[in-house]
Amino acid sequence: MFITSIILLAAQSAAAPVAPASDIRVADLRAHISFLASEELEGRESGREGGQLAANYVESNFRRVGLKPLANQDGAYQIEFEIKRPDLTCRNVVGVLAGTNPDYADSYIAIGGHHDHAGVGGPGAMGFPGEIHNGADDNASGTSGVLELAEYYAANPLEHPIIFMTFSAEERGLLGSKALVDSNVLDNDKIMFMINLDMIGRLDEDYLFVGGLGTATELHDLLDPVFEKSDLELELNDKGEAPSDNTSFFHGGIPALFFFTNVHADYHMPGDDADKINYEGEVRVLNLVNEVIKTLDSAPSLEFVKYGGMGMPADFDTRMREHYRHIAERRVMKGKLGIRADVAGEILTLSKVTVDSAASESGLMVGDVLLQVNGRDITSMETLRRSLAGGLVGEEVSMIVTRDGVKKTFKATLK
Ligand SMILES: [Zn+2]
Repeated sequence: MFITSIILLAAQSAAAPVAPASDIRVADLRAHISFLASEELEGRESGREGGQLAANYVESNFRRVGLKPLANQDGAYQIEFEIKRPDLTCRNVVGVLAGTNPDYADSYIAIGGHHDHAGVGGPGAMGFPGEIHNGADDNASGTSGVLELAEYYAANPLEHPIIFMTFSAEERGLLGSKALVDSNVLDNDKIMFMINLDMIGRLDEDYLFVGGLGTATELHDLLDPVFEKSDLELELNDKGEAPSDNTSFFHGGIPALFFFTNVHADYHMPGDDADKINYEGEVRVLNLVNEVIKTLDSAPSLEFVKYGGMGMPADFDTRMREHYRHIAERRVMKGKLGIRADVAGEILTLSKVTVDSAASESGLMVGDVLLQVNGRDITSMETLRRSLAGGLVGEEVSMIVTRDGVKKTFKATLK
């Protein structure tokens, strides 16, 4: 799936040689998000294999469109940092694109979003144990936005050079962006402004939140005309902080804007999947982001203002309260099958079938050897846990077992 996506993208850019490859495209966003939010990446937990696969994917795309590594990184696009409890090595990904105006060579535009997510029971996971949190909106959407803008500006360079970044360990508390800003990897004084894309894939009723507009003196004068022309329903906010990576840059003294299509019922839940992304909507969001960046590119400089406070949508707290209520309701509905199994190598044999359970009512018996549950091959306790994860009371579980050497199929209704 990883290799296929790369080939597909390479083929797309090769197929459009005439027009500088350049608009923000639904097909590209779909390809990026489908990979980043696929089961193979297991929710992209920072410091784990899935998170690393996401970082590798970003790097390969940065290379493909011609971004260079930071001059002080010895050719590396991935920049390591260590976190504690759990002790893990995580990696941000950074690539640079030159600008066209030598006068601005030391004044960078920064565009970023986090590539990590809640994994399987990782940081911030709100589903059941064993469920994969694919994080299509949070934040494959923003990561794919960074990749699309990198491709766009590679074909249509701005006057200022641009640093493109995707962060790890955002879900552990903005650790990746903080590590970048607090180290001397970036020269913070040389960053003109930062754009943070976090959850921009669920445009609903054209609503888009733009935060951080008070973090430089000139932002309203420059950008209000852009916002007035937009056909999106914009909620503008001046405050510089949010539970997202723009906050790290704000604390580093850098004007930072936050684009966000708001929380929804799948926030940090296993249902945050690629098929629920509003791809046309994300293109519209990115077109506005593009207008904002182009407008600021023509400004000579911006003066940072320490305009603190949480800048979030007016209905954010109400939506979150509703969300937690739904999650509590779902917890109560967690279904039970009623089996225990012994493991020998890759063979799982039922050692207990609870009386009056879903399993016993389906006809399962002690001694049955599990081959498949819900279409998934059973070779370990972990595969069994995964195949049953997320099942609610009343839902059906299909099982294939062998009993005395004969293959049998059972269906159980979870209780
Ligand atoms: Zn998140």
